[in-house]
Amino acid sequence: MLITADRVLAGPDAHTIHDGAVLVRDGLVACVGPREEVQRCAKPDEPWLAYPGATVLPGLIDAHVHLCFDAGQDPVATLQGQDDDALFPDMAVHAEQLLSIGVTTARDLGDRNGLALRLGEQVAAGTAVGPRIISAGTPVTPHGGHCWFLGGEVSGADEIRSLFRRNIAAGAKVIKVMETGGGLTKGGAKSWESQFTPEELGAIVDEAHQAGLPVAAHAHGTEGIVAAVEAGVDTIEHCTWMTPTGFEVREDVLDQIIEKGIHICPAVSPHWRMLPQIFGAERAEAMFGAVRRMAEAGARLIAGTDAGVQRAGFDGLPASLAFYEHLGLPASRILAMATSEAANALGLSDVTGQISTGYSADLLVVDGDPLADLGALKNVKAVIAAGKRYEPTA
Ligand SMILES: [Zn+2]
Repeated sequence: MLITADRVLAGPDAHTIHDGAVLVRDGLVACVGPREEVQRCAKPDEPWLAYPGATVLPGLIDAHVHLCFDAGQDPVATLQGQDDDALFPDMAVHAEQLLSIGVTTARDLGDRNGLALRLGEQVAAGTAVGPRIISAGTPVTPHGGHCWFLGGEVSGADEIRSLFRRNIAAGAKVIKVMETGGGLTKGGAKSWESQFTPEELGAIVDEAHQAGLPVAAHAHGTEGIVAAVEAGVDTIEHCTWMTPTGFEVREDVLDQIIEKGIHICPAVSPHWRMLPQIFGAERAEAMFGAVRRMAEAGARLIAGTDAGVQRAGFDGLPASLAFYEHLGLPASRILAMATSEAANALGLSDVTGQISTGYSADLLVVDGDPLADLGALKNVKAVIAAGKRYEPTA
């Protein structure tokens, strides 16, 4: 399959090739470059998709989703009211929504009974339609802790190990640990409160690393962020720097985050514009300011939406990325957050996140030029995942 467009964002640096082309063979990028060159590698009868006026960019990566939540008013109640047989088809719908907007890889950071893992296997086998799914399985939380209802309540080293074994056996590629509380869990720890002691978190991280898995730590509170950095987690989710009274970005800890190369997924809601109404203008500005500070300092930010929680639909990634434009980040860096940098964070830097020879043919074709106007990401012309063009199933 030959794909041509006015622009192709190619290579690890996503540099623009004008009048470019991508040749796809066996699910991989076989050749990328100026159209005339790539055309020479194509067969005379090669199927050809021409997109004048459009840009081909790497398929997007949403590094923080929950396929098991429905993004409604009360996702937890909805989940609790569904058994696995009822929930699984809904998760498949969510996966297809992600793919339809150009998300070709999604990291699921918390499901129930390994359902996201099962769905990911079906996508890989071609029996379900969706992005590549990197899943954490069931998140680690203390008894009654954040997202306890997903089934990952543990106390003590033995229980932690047995949950890890269960997740790993089901195919988990990352361990998710709920280091602090979160708004989704009624009656649980507050978002700024830690749920595990630094020692407990350290043991969890060591155990995961010994099993060869990276750790994604959910951490809103500054205290929890400090513990996560100390424990050597691989990604920090939310990283809100919340204290009982407000927000405090600890510069010394931010320095360590950068030094250790820890990725930060702020998981900004697609409806971030509503936050000043929900939390008040001053509080929202402080939240935004913390992300701005991390970006300015050079932290390795990656894109994620927390899709599935309230107000975070599975089509929200472009709206979430607009937040970083609002902060003043250049479009090239924002696109990298949702492609190459996210691929680094997910351990997929030699698989996806860039259009290079030998990489999975995960491509998004949009009208216009997203480097000139990020809003162009909404003008989806075609989505190709692992070399297969997405066709709506309904
Ligand atoms: Zn989440």
